[in-house]
Amino acid sequence: ATVLTGTDLVRSFGKTPALRGVSCAIRAGEIVAITGPSGSGKSTLLLCLAGVLAPDAGAVNFGGRRIDQLSEAERSRLRRTELGVLFQFGQLVPELTVGENVALPLLLSGARRREALGTASEWLDRFGVADLAQRYPGELSGGQQQRAAVARSLVTEPRVLFADEPTGALDSLAGEQLLTQLTRVARENGTAVLIVTHEAQVAAYAQREITLWDGSVVDDGSTAAPTEAP
Ligand code: ADP
Ligand code: ADP
Repeated sequence: ATVLTGTDLVRSFGKTPALRGVSCAIRAGEIVAITGPSGSGKSTLLLCLAGVLAPDAGAVNFGGRRIDQLSEAERSRLRRTELGVLFQFGQLVPELTVGENVALPLLLSGARRREALGTASEWLDRFGVADLAQRYPGELSGGQQQRAAVARSLVTEPRVLFADEPTGALDSLAGEQLLTQLTRVARENGTAVLIVTHEAQVAAYAQREITLWDGSVVDDGSTAAPTEAP
């Protein structure tokens, strides 16, 4: 079933066109890479689909709603519940422990502290970093920080996770470990994942690759099925 669609999305920044009429459909649980050269509109497409950035024209449909027409407050609530967003630098809050960081989306939604921390430690465990819950982000390696950021982005069990260059700040080994874990956990949970990347090896983790060129989709085919997670 289709979970998210973008239809004829147009967006410019001043006189610079970033999207020139992009349509795409994301199915439940699907892992999709958005690829293309720098400046081709990948981040803009992701941000429009995630309800962060408003398109100038076109529509974004999610769960029967036009999310591009929701108020900022409603879109922000959606991003704390059904949609997850992950950036290149995980942006953990340095003053909070890793466990508190991962629990934060639950706390913001009104969960009790004890339960939120318990759920957070389960998610850290799924990424192999449960032992880091009491530490502060500054004490962690980049790869460990990003795994915690991924755990935080999934702790609310969103239906779609939007990830902009999630491995861009990591070396290739740490990046591959992160993608292996992210795609395995997403699959277990039925979470659709959109990954913006300019790295060809990242696209190999996806079931489908949408390629942009100068603000338009030039390919929306399927890559080879990814290998099963061990
Ligand atoms: P890329 O994904 O190509 O590396 P950047 O890292 O330059 O893009 O941009 C990251 C984010 O910042 C994107 O969401 C993009 O929309 C936004 N951005 C890009 N250029 C500018 C700019 N000149 N001013 C403000 N935000 C920008
Ligand atoms: P990509 O992610 O593929 O690198 P972007 O979506 O970041 O591409 O950018 C597409 C085009 O829009 C580029 O020309 C970029 O400079 C421009 N752009 C993106 N975000 C902004 C922004 N916030 N302000 C100004 N220009 C932007």
